[in-house]
Amino acid sequence: CIEENRILRRICPGSFEENDGLFVAVTDEDMDYLEPFLKGCAECGIPTQVLSPAEALALEPNLNPAVKAAVRVPDATMDAMRMPLRFFATAKHHGARILPFTEVLDLLVHDRVVSGALVRDHVTGAEREIHADVTVNATGPWSEKIARMAGVDVPIRPSPGVLLALRGRLCNMVLNRLHRSGDGDIIVPQRGLSVVGTSSWTVDDPDDLGVPEDHVRKMYEEGAKLVPAVAHAEQRAAWSAARPLIGSRGEAETGRELSRTFKTFDHATSDGVEGFVTITGGKGTTLRGMAELCANVVCGKLGIEAECRTRETVLLPHTAYYA
Ligand SMILES: Cc1cc2nc3c(=O)[nH]c(=O)nc-3n(C[C@H](O)[C@H](O)[C@H](O)COP(=O)(O)OP(=O)(O)OC[C@H]3O[C@@H](n4cnc5c(N)ncnc54)[C@H](O)[C@@H]3O)c2cc1C
Repeated sequence: CIEENRILRRICPGSFEENDGLFVAVTDEDMDYLEPFLKGCAECGIPTQVLSPAEALALEPNLNPAVKAAVRVPDATMDAMRMPLRFFATAKHHGARILPFTEVLDLLVHDRVVSGALVRDHVTGAEREIHADVTVNATGPWSEKIARMAGVDVPIRPSPGVLLALRGRLCNMVLNRLHRSGDGDIIVPQRGLSVVGTSSWTVDDPDDLGVPEDHVRKMYEEGAKLVPAVAHAEQRAAWSAARPLIGSRGEAETGRELSRTFKTFDHATSDGVEGFVTITGGKGTTLRGMAELCANVVCGKLGIEAECRTRETVLLPHTAYYA
């Protein structure tokens, strides 16, 4: 994650607020987590700086005045629209064709070989087949559903979370509670908003999520333990979305037990179905690394030998997508 964090800052200059982050202890239990947290960061090569309450409050005056200690780490707020658009723009200018509003209705499967997909253009309503040497399933929490069209299984558990956007920038750094990942323990400033996240549960269908009212309340309650002004901030929006977590059904209740790791499945090897690869799991931060892993598998299948260049290639600006 930290390596990808550094690569993304290098190849997407201007698409991040390079604001760093604070992990903030507000209770004695949080303080108990300080040593294991510092040890874990050291093992992962993440630089840390322990701050006194006065130092933390000087950086973030809206922090809970009961702050007991804070740890500064390299962090950043990603522009979740513009950063992915830069990947699309760069791919497009290298010859990729991008088909928005186009849904895969089914995969074309014959004799355990996938040779493309049947798609519907939701603008024109037209349906057509697209043929391919290799078809990649990169549909996140929907990847199990798409894999089933080829008669194979991928162990994905869709795990939604509720996010709450509040009007106003209540902090400038990414603020986290210094404890094991839990509900409402992160506040991310983005332009004129502060986004409080998140809860975590598991579902069977990534299209059937809802925004449970008690989760929204929890975001207010827990967020206010980091920054008291959260309690009275005006709500701009509350929504939910599903993470694609790797794990079998029945393995997890809340999703927090499941790893944020990612995996590529060559279904020729795992299921005897040729021409079909799934890349899934991961985090937003690891998107480039996931693509590298998957492209290596696809190149191997097609007999292409080429070095991956996406660690070094600076992406076109998001505006180039429309050019
Ligand atoms: C609440 C929440 C908080 C998160 N917080 C963080 C964070 O702080 N840091 C971080 O790094 N990551 C975070 N993530 C994780 C990150 O957002 C996901 O890991 C990432 O979006 C998954 O990327 P993906 O491309 O695999 O899937 P998605 O982004 O879900 O994309 C899947 C795509 O497949 C498309 N699709 C599905 N079915 C079809 C079909 N039949 N035909 C055509 N297209 C189809 C969908 O429309 C969608 O565009 C968070 C996620 C959630 C939900």
